[in-house]
Amino acid sequence: MVEAYSIPVTKVERSRLPEITLKDIPFGRTFTDHMLEADYINGEWKNVEIKPYQPLMVSPSLAALHYGQSIFEGIKAYKNEAGEAFIFRPYDNYKRFNLSAARMEMPTVPEDIFIEGMRQLIALDSNWIPAMHDHSLYIRPFMFSSDEMIGVRPSENYKFMIILAPTGPYYSTPMRIKVEETYTRAAPGGVGQAKAAGNYGSAMYVTAQAKKQGFDQVLWTDVYEHKYVQEAGTMNVFFVIGDTAVTPDLTPGTILAGVTRDSVMTILEEMGLKVEERPVSIDMLIEAYKAGELREVFGTGTAATVSLIRELKYKDFAMSFDTQKFTVTAEIKNRLDAIREGHAPDKYGWMVSV
Ligand SMILES: *Cc1c(COP(=O)(O)O)cnc(C)c1O
Repeated sequence: MVEAYSIPVTKVERSRLPEITLKDIPFGRTFTDHMLEADYINGEWKNVEIKPYQPLMVSPSLAALHYGQSIFEGIKAYKNEAGEAFIFRPYDNYKRFNLSAARMEMPTVPEDIFIEGMRQLIALDSNWIPAMHDHSLYIRPFMFSSDEMIGVRPSENYKFMIILAPTGPYYSTPMRIKVEETYTRAAPGGVGQAKAAGNYGSAMYVTAQAKKQGFDQVLWTDVYEHKYVQEAGTMNVFFVIGDTAVTPDLTPGTILAGVTRDSVMTILEEMGLKVEERPVSIDMLIEAYKAGELREVFGTGTAATVSLIRELKYKDFAMSFDTQKFTVTAEIKNRLDAIREGHAPDKYGWMVSV
């Protein structure tokens, strides 16, 4: 293949990889040898380069630190048994990144930098992709405003970067979830559908409160009545009711349109379940639970793929589930892992070669 776009590369003198144990490596703490950096200056993307992973020098007046024009993405790359590297659905994340950028009045990033830059960076650090079951290379593209000036207005300068972190299995025990009735994450017209940094900062107090009460996460609800469920942490949610899988619809613009959510909907249909995207009220869930019809509840996202939910608590009413009997959730994870780790055919064209 002809390189569409050649990015200048400065390589490390000596790789840190020999000092790293990839097996079971914890999420998000160890980064590969190199990173990609690009600057948006005077209306143009410039200084695109791949260089050794290193700290940034920033001014204390950096606009992003004060006013929060900052967005990110999360993607994973895998290696199959033949040692070939693939990225899972990067074009979907690329589209979503630019939607986030538009909503935050930030410049869009061209495909040559986002996709081609990601491929070249991963190709350079491909030895860091763990070729083991439940292991992957987590890819973190992000962009922030880089004006050095205090003043509330859109920045004129931005920095786009990609960093890579090898990651092992996401061990998580089945979760206890609190249906949140006081605080909210996203309102129609807000930024809930954007992967904007501030969404996560504003959730931390609420999640910390729920943790003190013995929960692992909160399930956000609508701002008007706290009646319609949205999503939990950095996960979309699914409910298996009878032979139908239900997930909140994206229409109100308050939910992050997960790439895993979309992949799981495709796999559920492949498995013969009906899939419905629609408003999901807590009353409907309680009714289904009482009728013995609410069989499985799980979250979906790039980090964990699928996360089992063993309890949903709404006011004083707890719905408990025996996650050992979650056959649908287990099958989804098996099918997705098989595609991503190269054991099953890539029927949907999800795997993009590095
Ligand atoms: C990233 C994220 C998700 C999951 O999206 P994926 O594309 O599946 O990783 C869900 N909800 C929120 C709030 C997120 O930030």
